[in-house]
Amino acid sequence: MASEISVKLPDGSELELPRGTTGADAAAAIGPGLARAALAIKVDGELRDLGAPLSGGESIEVITEKSPESLELVRHDAAHVLAESVLDLWPQAKISIGPPIADGFYYDIEFPDGESPGEDDLARIEQRMAEHIKADEPFERRELSSDEAIAYFGDQGQDYKVELIEDLARDDGESTVSLYRNGPFEDLCRGPHGPSTGRIGAFKLTSLAGAYWRGDENRQMLTRIYGTAFHSRKELEQHLERLEQARARDHRRLGPQLDLFMLRPEAPGMPFWLPDGTVLLGLIEAEVRGQLARRGYVEIKTPQVLDEELWHRSGHWENYRENMFFVEAAQREGSRSGGRRFALKPMNCPGACLAYDAERHSYRDLPLRLAEFGLVSRYEREGVLHGLLRVRGFTQDDAHVYCTLEQVTDEVDSICEAIDELYERFGFEDVQVELSTRPERSIGTEEQWERAEGSLREALERQGREYEVSPGEGTFYGPKIDFHVTDALGRCWQCGTCQLDFQMPERFELTYTGADNAEHRPVMIHRALVGSMERFAGILIEHHAGRFPLWLAPVQAGILPVADRHVDYARRVAAELREAGVRVRVDERSESVGRKIREAELAKWPYMLVVGDEEEGEGKVAVRSHDRGDLGKKSVAELAQQVADSAAAA
Ligand SMILES: [Zn+2]
Ligand SMILES: [Zn+2]
Repeated sequence: MASEISVKLPDGSELELPRGTTGADAAAAIGPGLARAALAIKVDGELRDLGAPLSGGESIEVITEKSPESLELVRHDAAHVLAESVLDLWPQAKISIGPPIADGFYYDIEFPDGESPGEDDLARIEQRMAEHIKADEPFERRELSSDEAIAYFGDQGQDYKVELIEDLARDDGESTVSLYRNGPFEDLCRGPHGPSTGRIGAFKLTSLAGAYWRGDENRQMLTRIYGTAFHSRKELEQHLERLEQARARDHRRLGPQLDLFMLRPEAPGMPFWLPDGTVLLGLIEAEVRGQLARRGYVEIKTPQVLDEELWHRSGHWENYRENMFFVEAAQREGSRSGGRRFALKPMNCPGACLAYDAERHSYRDLPLRLAEFGLVSRYEREGVLHGLLRVRGFTQDDAHVYCTLEQVTDEVDSICEAIDELYERFGFEDVQVELSTRPERSIGTEEQWERAEGSLREALERQGREYEVSPGEGTFYGPKIDFHVTDALGRCWQCGTCQLDFQMPERFELTYTGADNAEHRPVMIHRALVGSMERFAGILIEHHAGRFPLWLAPVQAGILPVADRHVDYARRVAAELREAGVRVRVDERSESVGRKIREAELAKWPYMLVVGDEEEGEGKVAVRSHDRGDLGKKSVAELAQQVADSAAAA
């Protein structure tokens, strides 16, 4: 047996190393600087500990702070140090899982009764963590048989770890598990980890939340401690600054604060829209309707509750059942048809297909573009609901275009153009396009999928658009193009979608009469411009930080009487402005005008119109704008014109 092995480096060169060598040895063989900087090693694309042995023939890459993977690594290290520190302070705590996540890490922990930490305790935990990091405890891996590991964690009363190991043994047939030790703490863990805790550059615990064990509302509620870690203090501070900005814009906070919407325990994931929020939704809807009118769409409305049989026909039963709500109201009638089951529609497509089928169509009718602002209901676990962004009920600005395969490219062009115009109108400049292809669970033939993917690609390429491909991310009935907007904080949100479908026309036996007088199947395009109206409203709230452009503000001007004797005049001004199409609100409370101005600022109304003796005498209003401060006195007609002009210019 040769005493040397050889591994391949990222630049393609070969490195000879003695047998029995590790990742750390390889880094040292390349150079002492790299050995010091090394955090882990990537072996044939897989991240491993520096201490993992190399067997020869692999491609290796030494991971340092400069590697994109390194943040995930130190965040995972920090999660272990978090659990270690919590156990120092609460020796009776039971720890469950603690993974790295997109922006940091968390650990889910059961605290002894009545001892759950509050926000104030985070500093105390952080201090412990800092001590363990300063001690530079090496991460050491060992393997145990599942039985030994169960006994080991069982002795410590760590029941969640025992359950995890039992599941690994049962579901994945794992007979051994790995443990990582740092200092006095040892955790069940697959790894990999950095060399030692001292390599965690800068960290912070950011928040606390409740989380059910395994996301199951019937299991124990645990305390989730969130944190983040970076290589340097500077990067951490920049990140915290971004978080602060995001918090200030959080639609879950601004929505209730601005009286736009509320969420109630009576209907989890189904927002209640308050008057001002309903105005906002109406304004979004009006913009979408403008696109419908210009692009030859007609509108329909289809029922909320449809016979379960329909969902069998559409394929939703087989492919989407777990996301549906079912109702059994028909049983109450006690009729022979009792037991007929209905479902709340999770999508508008089957309804649209029945509407298409209401009459015979000829090729001259195509493309037939049926739009619907359709309220859909989708079952999501309570634990994953998130404000307006992840809900159980929402209105899609949906449409189904029935056309021939030859017409698809032009239709997709028109849809993309509508999306560009609409997003620009709402203040989004950067739109990203993603093409998603056939998923594992899907219906239809290979040939149909190829043709469908081909025509979407053709449309995108004809427009000269840049797009990314997401393999396997299409819907069960066809490939799709998704449109993402980037908001003011640089975050990306999926909004519009355009999906091609040969399946549903087949299942609903939809036809049109061709020029040849024979019956043909139309192709169906499912498309939504903003996607979910409510979600889009949530994104707009965050993008504009609740301070909407004038044309989109639910209240464009607040009228603030200086004293009670000016209320009548304020009402007359309000009536005139409403007549001129301006959305106004009068603050009739007996508060000081200073206080009214402060609260109008908090309500983020674009204009504040102060009316006192002078203004009433001259028949004018004193105008203050949030952006531009005091604008002097104006007549009602002047102001109405100014609002109309700036709305049109937007
Ligand atoms: Zn771990
Ligand atoms: Zn559809």
